Amino acid sequence: MGCMNVCPVQAITTEYYSDGHRGISVNPDVCIECGACERVCPVVNGSAYGKNTLDSEYYAGWATKQDIRRRGATSGIFGALAERVISEGGYVAGAVMEEMACRYIISNKYEDIERMQGSKYTSSDPGCIYKEIRSKLSEGREVLFCGLPCHVAGLLEYLPARMRENLTTVDIICGGVSSPSLIRRYAEHVGDMEDIISFRDKSSGWKPTGFRYSLKYIDKDSNVVDTSAKGRNLITDGFACELTDRYSCYDCRFSFTHRKSDLTIGDLWGDTEFKDQHFNGVSGIIAHSEKGREQLAKAGIELHPITPERLLCNNYRIFNGKSIKGRFPERRWLAYALHHLSYDSLLKIYGSDLKPIRLLWIPFTVYRLLSFRFAEFLNKRRGKQLLKQIGSKKY
Ligand SMILES: Cc1cc2nc3c(=O)[nH]c(=O)nc-3n(C[C@H](O)[C@H](O)[C@H](O)COP(=O)(O)OP(=O)(O)OC[C@H]3O[C@@H](n4cnc5c(N)ncnc54)[C@H](O)[C@@H]3O)c2cc1C
Repeated sequence: MGCMNVCPVQAITTEYYSDGHRGISVNPDVCIECGACERVCPVVNGSAYGKNTLDSEYYAGWATKQDIRRRGATSGIFGALAERVISEGGYVAGAVMEEMACRYIISNKYEDIERMQGSKYTSSDPGCIYKEIRSKLSEGREVLFCGLPCHVAGLLEYLPARMRENLTTVDIICGGVSSPSLIRRYAEHVGDMEDIISFRDKSSGWKPTGFRYSLKYIDKDSNVVDTSAKGRNLITDGFACELTDRYSCYDCRFSFTHRKSDLTIGDLWGDTEFKDQHFNGVSGIIAHSEKGREQLAKAGIELHPITPERLLCNNYRIFNGKSIKGRFPERRWLAYALHHLSYDSLLKIYGSDLKPIRLLWIPFTVYRLLSFRFAEFLNKRRGKQLLKQIGSKKY
């Protein structure tokens, strides 16, 4: 959406495609063909967001303040960085849920950090956030932006280099974003959902082998509804299946070990060293720049240097943006399925809700098992090859 932010005549707007993802639309009657949109687009202009080398520094870490850490998707690294920036008069930009959609806001209020914290497992809309960040930077304010790697790349291309001095960018490790239509179909199914308050739960502890999704929403009477006891749901299980991602997520151009962002944050999957810290969450952190290292040092974060292998060997998505699932028939038929299938059928296909096994669904269940195994096999093979090329000592 850098193009929409930069367009001098507002010829570019967004629209929803039939698979539920948002894209751009150009009004040819208004467009003056100045080319600004193409120059700022990190995909069209072909600028590389990073490279697969071992030039960055790797840490395990967590926020030292318990409330910030508890609210964080992993261990509240963003929350701790944001608190420091706001305490010194700066602004932070991050993603929040509003009216069942995920969008970026910029704020200098502590209470908004809480809304930004936590993973929103759906596509986020940058809207006009790049313009708003530019305006704060031109007032001489410090700004922290945390979001998806593609959105950080968009921001960096949009901003002139001279304006980046007071800006710190943090990207999250991202395995792809699911279609916002999953939220729409789930809302129609339950009938009383007003907004989502959480997608992921740490109440029974973070685990280095994975975590529990937990969809909590506010209903029309303002009650909090916890859906975790109700079996699978199309929102979080749909996200986990990775069959409704944006097509670009299956060939992500922003997955690298060394990036233009200042910091990359994610889960330290597979950790065995900080067992006493697991319950509250342990982050894997990559510092790509001096500014990133300074930000970590100034914020309330406990840091432990680790070898790159500790993070990379358990989190291939950091450097492998490719996935074969984009070619699966389920993904190809997503637009049709979203508009014609019942909620229960959608949940079976896109949320893998295959139990109890019904006779009619047996061929599909077999296909699902085999196709997911194949995707996993290819992912591991490519991950190992890339690790070897990167120069990792372990694969
Ligand atoms: C779509 C998605 C895919 C992910 N895939 C992986 C993965 O493959 N491997 C892995 O290790 N971790 C993954 N994560 C988890 C992510 O790594 C954690 O959110 C990250 O560790 C931050 O944790 P924290 O506790 O430090 O941050 P918190 O303090 O909880 O802050 C979370 C930050 O993430 C941003 N954010 C949350 N959701 C979105 C969104 N939809 N769009 C843009 N920004 C958002 C918020 O703005 C906030 O700045 C994914 C998260 C998302 C949202």
